[in-house]
Amino acid sequence: MTCPVHGYEWVERAADSYTIAGPHCSWDGSLHPDLFMSLVREGATLTPTDKNYKVYVETEVQEGAEKLRIMSRASHNPGTSPVYGAYRQVKDVDLSDVNTAGWSDFYPEDWVQLAPIGTRRHDKFYFEHLSGDQKEEFVALLNAKKIALAFPGRFYRLPFFVVT
Ligand SMILES: [Zn+2]
Repeated sequence: MTCPVHGYEWVERAADSYTIAGPHCSWDGSLHPDLFMSLVREGATLTPTDKNYKVYVETEVQEGAEKLRIMSRASHNPGTSPVYGAYRQVKDVDLSDVNTAGWSDFYPEDWVQLAPIGTRRHDKFYFEHLSGDQKEEFVALLNAKKIALAFPGRFYRLPFFVVT
């Protein structure tokens, strides 16, 4: 399956990634439209943006919440921070158990700060991926006020397909 808009593959993201698990467009990283619509129906929170083609999506999941991720890395020991605690040396950590997405080239002497990924997942969706039927359903849900919208509680810039 490829994205009909961009002709790129849908790439599956795992439950322990920072974003929402499931297929994403490998061109722009957008959620798959079917997944987006099911999240909207289930009450996921949408955060409006100043772009008429983009929205942020937030949901809560249990799967993968305990998995550790890297908060920061240093070549010397920066000490303990009140939020995430002590740094540990890479040679003392089993990195195969840690989500290292976005980080690479670890040295055994490096210091890393780890914390659980947690239950909140943020993602983005580009409206251009919606089919005609999905656009209609989205507008119907919006008109029925069945979409959970974060601050300011409305689309201050309406999605491009919404006609007033
Ligand atoms: Zn795409």
